[in-house]
Formats: sequence, C-alpha cells, structure tokens
Amino acid sequence: MAPHKIEFSTVRELERKTHKVFMYSGSSLLIGLLLTLIGLVVIGVPVIILSLVVLIGAMAYVSVLGKEPTRTLFCPYCASKNEVYRSRTRFSCDICRRPVVIDENGEPAPAEPIDTTARYNR
Ligand SMILES: [Zn+2]
Repeated sequence: MAPHKIEFSTVRELERKTHKVFMYSGSSLLIGLLLTLIGLVVIGVPVIILSLVVLIGAMAYVSVLGKEPTRTLFCPYCASKNEVYRSRTRFSCDICRRPVVIDENGEPAPAEPIDTTARYNR
C-alpha cells in the first residue's frame, strides 16, 4: 500500500487522530444542513456534499487501516499496554508519549535513556 500521510503506530493513536476528522466532518455536515434549512442552499449543499465525502472517505480509510494485525507491547518506561501495528519498528507510548523502538526480536526497547526527562507539551 502507498505510504499514507496520517502517522500512527498504535490503535489508540489511530483512533485519537481519526476521531478529529469524524468530529469536524460531522459538525460541518450539521452546519451544511442548517444553512440549507435557512435557505442558503448554494452554500449549504456543497458543504453537505464535501462533509459526506470526507466522512465516508475517513470511514473507508479507517476500516482498511484497522485490518492490519497488531501486537501487544508494554512500554519500557511506564509499563503501559500499547496495541502496536505489526509493520511498525517504533512508536510513541500512548500514555507517557516517549519514543520506543522495537528490536528484531519484537521486543520493545527505550529509544532514549530512561533518565532523560523528555517532555512533550500538549
Ligand atoms: Zn509509556
């Protein structure tokens, strides 16, 4: 399959990222419906069509991506469970967000020294 733009390595990360797409396209669909209802059909209808295209496209995309097998790996930093897609060789922990590399035996290993206090502001 062609390389894709949405970067994710774990099931939770995929859900977190696609959730936004569903939320935005869902709310723009509602806005389109409202615009149509108040008589602004010229704006409302294209907004509805666009939202539906994005929504259906996102659903198809997620269902294709969701078929890839995952493996359960435990974060070497915080011991949290991560559902990681098999083709990935590294991922960021769902919980502590620190980088983890997967070695040739499929074992997760810290990608940075444990004593590093890397902080990711969200
Ligand atoms: Zn962690």
